[in-house]
Amino acid sequence: MPEHFTMTIGGESVAAPATFGVVDPATGEVAEQAPDASRDQLDAAMAAARDAFPAWRADEPARRKALLAAADVLFARSEEIGRIITLEQGKPLADATMEVVAGGVWLKYYAELELPPEVIQDDASARVEVVRRPMGVVAAITPWNYPLLLGMWKIAPALLAGNTMVLKPSPYTPLSSLKVGEVLRDVLPPGVLNVVTGGDELGAWMTAHPVPRKISFTGSVETGKRVASAAAPDLKRVTLELGGNDAAIVLDDADPAAIAEKLFGAAFMNNGQVCSAIKRVYAPESLYGDVVEALAARARSVKVGNGMEEGVQYGPINNRPQYERVSELVADAIAGGARAAAGGRPIDGPGYFFEPTILADIADGVRIVDEEQFGPALPVIRYGSLDEALARANGTSFGLSGSVWSADADRAAEVAGRLECGTAWVNTHLALAPHQPFGGFKWSGVGVENGPWGLHGFTELQVLHRAKA
Ligand code: NAD
Repeated sequence: MPEHFTMTIGGESVAAPATFGVVDPATGEVAEQAPDASRDQLDAAMAAARDAFPAWRADEPARRKALLAAADVLFARSEEIGRIITLEQGKPLADATMEVVAGGVWLKYYAELELPPEVIQDDASARVEVVRRPMGVVAAITPWNYPLLLGMWKIAPALLAGNTMVLKPSPYTPLSSLKVGEVLRDVLPPGVLNVVTGGDELGAWMTAHPVPRKISFTGSVETGKRVASAAAPDLKRVTLELGGNDAAIVLDDADPAAIAEKLFGAAFMNNGQVCSAIKRVYAPESLYGDVVEALAARARSVKVGNGMEEGVQYGPINNRPQYERVSELVADAIAGGARAAAGGRPIDGPGYFFEPTILADIADGVRIVDEEQFGPALPVIRYGSLDEALARANGTSFGLSGSVWSADADRAAEVAGRLECGTAWVNTHLALAPHQPFGGFKWSGVGVENGPWGLHGFTELQVLHRAKA
């Protein structure tokens, strides 16, 4: 029996004049309907957020209390909301439930984070403080890979800072955000968090709307550039969390058997649909065959299937265009001479399933190495000298994150320091946490999320200067 999902505007449940179908990627069939917001409804959501702002910004203890209560709701309803994520996104239920729990962890972290003023002068002539002030209404736009958690990366700091919000999830995964709006209706004052759904056009209306002072966007580089240019005429502040093409460099003293599980895990987490997943591995000539074989053995052993089924480790690709893109990139690589050491093809049957794929005998210049594949296919590339590997890892417009793998952590850290990216990991990858800032160099983003730095992105800096003499 389909559930009735509605938007949240001014604390009320709101249906739209029209709906659009949400596809279960495990079947390829429409499973639910989501509201397709009208322009007037977006105006109403923006007005509700604007009207809620003065009272919300004025009461910091109430904000902290409400965010803690919101965290508790997510913890208590994690499996119920997790099922919605699995239905619309495809990931296994255990991972989907963990995503909801992580959303609660982020809310709790920010509910408890202090934001003290900095006193930069206090003498006979003046007391000068640097204070953080909220901006007003935040327009938040999210992608389909972690539909709930990436929303929480915005909601938690933006609301704690005293802003109010209009959130728009991806049209591929609108349901979990609609559910979040619904379950928080009794927890947050009306208008503090509004959730609207619709197509890409709704995102464009939001970025051009006169009310928001800030746009917080997570998605592709291409859309991020559109968002930045839409924000420019009104000088809206923007934070952009965009794509990545993370390189993992294996040093010649690493043990392929010991690192393969972690490498594979960080490349295939969420079926490779992670902005900062490992998207290319550089292995030295001496270890090349062993690295390829250790990764291929794992790829052959994992269980792919419907995320609702017990024991499934990897679900389908989230949507048809992405499934076709991954299929095309892998076919292009194989046609160009790459060898599929594991996988290499779509899985027959309904749904957007693709074999976990390891591509060997491949080099820079092939599309799947140079572009962001965002799916379950990983190229492994040979290198001669370390300088050459670093030049190739850095020879891209992306700069989200990267990692270096070695038996000697100090040596690896020195190499990691030469990576041009926002996070450089040593003997791990994808280790993310609420207190750790996350963002990209170059085209991978503008600004950061998480930690106090992420909170600062939802504030304006004010100097409070009191003359004494
Ligand atoms: P996308 O750019 O297609 O869509 C992201 C969001 O933008 C969706 O909600 C979409 O409806 C909306 N949108 C589309 N056109 C718009 C416009 N003109 N104006 C405003 N909003 C618009 O991205 P996607 O395919 O949903 O997500 C995959 C991409 O997201 C990958 O490139 C991935 O690397 C990136 N990503 C980055 C991070 C990060 O934190 N850096 C995290 C997850 C995903």
